[in-house]
Amino acid sequence: MFQKILIANRGEIAVRIIRTCKYMGIETVAIYSEVDKLSLHVQLADESICVGAAKSNESYLNMENIITAAIASGAEAIHPGFGFLSENAEFAQLCVDCGINFIGPNSNAISKMGNKSKARDIMIKASIPVVPGSIGSVKNLDEAIKIANEIGFPILIKASAGGGGRGMRIAFNTSEFMTAYETAKTEALNAFGDDTMYLEKYIINPKHIEFQMLCDKYGNVLHLGERDCSIQRRNQKVIEEAPSLIQEDLRDKMAKAAIKACKSVNYVNAGTVEFLVSGNDFYFIEMNTRIQVEHPITEMIFGIDIIKEQIKIAAGEKLSFNQEDIKLNGHSIECRLNAENPKQKFRPCPGKIKLIHIPSGNGIRFDSFIYPDYEIQPYYDSMIGKVIVHGENRTEAIKKMRATLEELVVEGIDTNQSFLYMILNDPDYIKGTFDTSFVEKKIDSLLEYEEYE
Ligand code: ADP
Repeated sequence: MFQKILIANRGEIAVRIIRTCKYMGIETVAIYSEVDKLSLHVQLADESICVGAAKSNESYLNMENIITAAIASGAEAIHPGFGFLSENAEFAQLCVDCGINFIGPNSNAISKMGNKSKARDIMIKASIPVVPGSIGSVKNLDEAIKIANEIGFPILIKASAGGGGRGMRIAFNTSEFMTAYETAKTEALNAFGDDTMYLEKYIINPKHIEFQMLCDKYGNVLHLGERDCSIQRRNQKVIEEAPSLIQEDLRDKMAKAAIKACKSVNYVNAGTVEFLVSGNDFYFIEMNTRIQVEHPITEMIFGIDIIKEQIKIAAGEKLSFNQEDIKLNGHSIECRLNAENPKQKFRPCPGKIKLIHIPSGNGIRFDSFIYPDYEIQPYYDSMIGKVIVHGENRTEAIKKMRATLEELVVEGIDTNQSFLYMILNDPDYIKGTFDTSFVEKKIDSLLEYEEYE
């Protein structure tokens, strides 16, 4: 087992990884940007090294400085968390070339799955259903229009390098398509430095269902069930739950497809295979080759520490359980708490935390990095914590989440706490009759809460 790990991330996921390292008796090295010196991950790690200025590309994306920090501190492995360099094939290879273990899949698997249009082609070859769309990427607008007409509208224009819901535009007809194509392309170039685009049929009101996978280098490919991440705003997840409410036979078919997807790229480590579900049909949309934000809900229902498994796999260990050992227990929900104001078009609201009260108790978990007087920085993602609950069943989990959100106090900045609470009280959410259009359809009623002063 490794003796020292460098965590190439910040915020709650860095804290989350450091905690597991502590349980495992592994020393930790935090990296931080100039504005993050007082961040919780820096305070919890055994050592810390500043890797650059506030802007991500000067610090958390600065490969050279991060590798230098790992070598200087004697860390044998780097955990990339999510975002930043976690799905960067070049970085994964650089680690290996410098004799450092990358806690994630190898660069080959990352590059195969990281490019979403290439990943689609690999899935087609493996006979896994994908959303009808272009074969590979599209060359130019003329070709794109031709293919769009063949597939039939509505069409979703997507960036091959896309992520976080960016570089994606919908078009309902040819004239809309032209503008949407150019806008999506520009957005992709700005966000990812790559404007390669591909097309998918726009599936009306699907559910987003994803499978958590764990694969070791001995060919064991296991799934830890699925999560429903259909509660989204602008294609970004807001609330997730596990298990989903899909039928058993569909779950079995999707799990088999997810296993096949991993095997098709010889995947090793933790990953997530994402699907859209419409009626009894399911379609692969992408694979995330890293730990995901919503991994805790899977941990809650299976009692497995996914970060611990990731570290063990990277250290060359064999998975210590098989598929039959993975037993579902109850239901779990996660709410993403963001520093933003929903009533002001979800404007990000960085600033100083004054007072916080974090609920606790049986089956309640709050993964975060905030503390009183901590200043939320404007440079990074607005997620400040994840409220996670576990209940005996879905009804209990919903009630527990409501009680937890009622008790939670975060003062000094605006958050989406009340907005989340409104979702938890919506009759369709409670019944489970929702899909990815839920938030958009209900936005007016979800914003009808009293401002808390
Ligand atoms: P990203 O990597 O940017 O998160 P994804 O491909 O994972 O993008 O898609 C994010 C979300 O966008 C999905 O969960 C879904 O709500 C919506 N979406 C993606 N592809 C389609 C599609 N073909 N039809 C309808 N909705 C889609």
